[in-house]
Amino acid sequence: MADVKLTHVKKIYSNQVEVLKDINLDIKQGEFIVFVGPSGCGKSTLLRMISGLEEITSGTLEIDGQVVNDIPPALRGIAMVFQSYALYPHMSVYDNMAFSLQIAKVSKEEVDLQVRKAADLLQLTDYLDRLPKALSGGQRQRVAIGRAIVRRPKVFLFDEPLSNLDAALRVATRMEIANLKESMPDSTMIYVTHDQVEAMTLADRIVLLSGGNIEQVGAPLDLYEHPANVFVAKFIGSPAMNVVPCKIEKAGEQTSVSLSSSTIVNTPIVTDAGEQSKQAFFGIRPEDLVVVDSEEQGFLSGKVSFVESLGEATLLYVQVPSCDEMVIAKQAGTLAIKRGDSVHLSTLPEKMHLFDNNELSYRR
Ligand code: ADP
Repeated sequence: MADVKLTHVKKIYSNQVEVLKDINLDIKQGEFIVFVGPSGCGKSTLLRMISGLEEITSGTLEIDGQVVNDIPPALRGIAMVFQSYALYPHMSVYDNMAFSLQIAKVSKEEVDLQVRKAADLLQLTDYLDRLPKALSGGQRQRVAIGRAIVRRPKVFLFDEPLSNLDAALRVATRMEIANLKESMPDSTMIYVTHDQVEAMTLADRIVLLSGGNIEQVGAPLDLYEHPANVFVAKFIGSPAMNVVPCKIEKAGEQTSVSLSSSTIVNTPIVTDAGEQSKQAFFGIRPEDLVVVDSEEQGFLSGKVSFVESLGEATLLYVQVPSCDEMVIAKQAGTLAIKRGDSVHLSTLPEKMHLFDNNELSYRR
């Protein structure tokens, strides 16, 4: 049970490419932290550096206030769960979970106690005598998690633990991991995924990475509602936020956003004082757009070029002349709207996002 602190951490592999640039992160004891980001952004490298499987090029890593850069993995008090499960195929579930304690010369009674406790927590008690090959993917991953639990580590590290499971098992195992966190509130857990749904549903705080940098750290809804920049805005949420170029104009207290000469919206967004006119980006989530009856009620109008009916929702792909890009509107349920129809779209002022040219989000 521990805090984890990274200060100016960098990683350069032998090919001299800086894959992690200057990572500063404070993880508190008991937090469930998810590293998320597109493939190649450096999240596995970061996790492996915390585990000790990968060397830290520069900067410091502290676990529980102690600098552990040069401490071998086995002595860091961490346990890692891999996407491949990494179970011993010839050992029973019981022995797979007991193994690390047995080699640490823990007494037989204590091993038995810890294994049975973990099996109970993970609903594996009925499978203790089975070999891994006689288990489903989800059960195998639970054994891998059980093997981590029995060691009672200070920090749990999960490297894409659900990515080998099919869709239904992913959901079930995701819920089990959430339950596990509930039942071990003091344990620090760091979890890597490229899946934003896993990040949103499991994390106390998300660390969103891209290109070796941290783009934003925050609670899932914080990232959804107040993305720090266009990258975060587009990564969190599905379909992605519509982001189009715009011009901001300020007159007194009022801020106007022009998407083209014909489209002007008033927003409650605060721009830098004294700014008269400035290029920026306007963002609106598909689910925050509402189809309205007339042009006067809306702020965007266009022709529907594609309709996707998902059952619980309908996605309208609308070609809006004032925006260069296609705008997606997500409406609940099914709609009578067809390809080629003209639609008008409205939203609430507080649902609008503005980003400056350096891609920083404006304050609301
Ligand atoms: P992610 O987990 O976000 O997909 P990784 O941490 O695996 O990303 O990789 C980050 C970057 O580092 C990628 O560009 C990858 O090609 C590179 N990389 C990873 N491992 C090595 C290695 N052992 N040697 C050289 N480059 C590596």
